[in-house]
Amino acid sequence: MRDILIVGAGQAGLHLAVGLLKNGYDVTVVTDRSPEQIGEGRVTSSQAMFGTALGHERAVGLDLWADSSPPIEGIAFTVPGPHGPAIDWAARLDVPARSVDQRLKMPAWMAEVERLGGKLVVHEATVADLESYAARYDLVLVAAGKGQIASLFERDAARSPYDRPQRALALTYVHGLAPRPGHSAVCFNLVPGVGEYFVFPALTLSGPCEIMVFEGVPGGPMDCWGDVRTPAEHLATSRRLLETFLPREAARCARVELTDELGVLSGRFAPVVRRPVATLPSGAQVLGVADVVVLNDPITGQGAGNAAKCAAAYLDSVLEHGDRPFDAAWMAATFERYWAQARHATAWTNALLAPPPPHVLDLLGAAGQVPQIASRFVNGFDDPSDFDEWFMDPVKARDYLKALS
Ligand SMILES: Cc1cc2nc3c(=O)[nH]c(=O)nc-3n(C[C@H](O)[C@H](O)[C@H](O)COP(=O)(O)OP(=O)(O)OC[C@H]3O[C@@H](n4cnc5c(N)ncnc54)[C@H](O)[C@@H]3O)c2cc1C
Repeated sequence: MRDILIVGAGQAGLHLAVGLLKNGYDVTVVTDRSPEQIGEGRVTSSQAMFGTALGHERAVGLDLWADSSPPIEGIAFTVPGPHGPAIDWAARLDVPARSVDQRLKMPAWMAEVERLGGKLVVHEATVADLESYAARYDLVLVAAGKGQIASLFERDAARSPYDRPQRALALTYVHGLAPRPGHSAVCFNLVPGVGEYFVFPALTLSGPCEIMVFEGVPGGPMDCWGDVRTPAEHLATSRRLLETFLPREAARCARVELTDELGVLSGRFAPVVRRPVATLPSGAQVLGVADVVVLNDPITGQGAGNAAKCAAAYLDSVLEHGDRPFDAAWMAATFERYWAQARHATAWTNALLAPPPPHVLDLLGAAGQVPQIASRFVNGFDDPSDFDEWFMDPVKARDYLKALS
């Protein structure tokens, strides 16, 4: 039976590992953190995932929290103005989204890998390790997320419009946040020139919670996490930002407390698309997976979903390939199969990082009057390829609005 090694026990690596094990492959997963270290560590993401991606998890039996995680039933979109919101609407998702803290999810998935007969090796893989893995295994997949080893894969300048971070990021996991009126939602607030704030229900180690996500424009007032030293200061900064820029969201926070001392995160990274195949000094080749090859800013909440879509696409490619060698041509074609989906999420995410052009403001404004537009925008989070048809291009946007009027 074919023997496959995966570096990285995250969203994509473990999904692929379980899918391969269920199809009779021998699988080894190399992880730089043990299940205990992940479970007892810091939060890594806000990891909201939409219907299609959740379906991929379900297909390999990994939807372990489908009943216990709170459903995110829609998306609400607000742009504050001087005298109340300038834009303010909400629409339902056709299929609820869900977010399960990766500190809960990954250890459970690692246990599932071992239960299915996979091998888990706790070790931080180096390039020298990749050489020995490539000599020994039929295929080596690098699913190491934002890990340093991803830099082995060359940046694809043609597919990477940005060469530096576009947002200062922060996460604050809390209990006690008041729900919005009506259905649950990702409450997405855009403060022009300052950044974005979104908040939504999730499941963490201590039960249901809400995750606050701050996306500050670099150098602006929401880019303010550098001097924050303690979890209490992090929570105080989160509150201060809301009181300053989003009083309605601040009002929901009267009773919030951190879920735990490690329920906070801040940092920044440059979005990048990399070439999918890395050639090691020996000439052996390895294939990059998910964030290693397509790393988007979290502004649109697409990374974990893309990781699931990548795992599903790669799994199909491996199964269809049968006993033939996993050569560079197969690796490149496998990535392109994933990129055919991921390019839409990437283009849309990169577009939302830039100041909104007039046609986008027209569409988001019109969505407040025409529920059909709001619904289409909201469900695009599940399948961003639809944005090409009406959102990304000013001419198509105008035609779409004209057809609706
Ligand atoms: C602030 C923030 C908010 C986010 N919010 C969302 C959201 O709401 N929705 C969404 O869909 N996505 C979100 N994301 C993105 C999402 O979490 C990632 O895109 C997703 O987890 C990527 O999956 P992956 O498998 O590629 O990598 P990861 O899940 O990061 O897994 C990589 C694993 O590899 C390990 N590793 C690294 N180097 C090595 C090595 N050398 N050897 C062995 N192991 C190694 C790491 O420790 C890690 O366990 C967010 C990200 C951030 C930073």
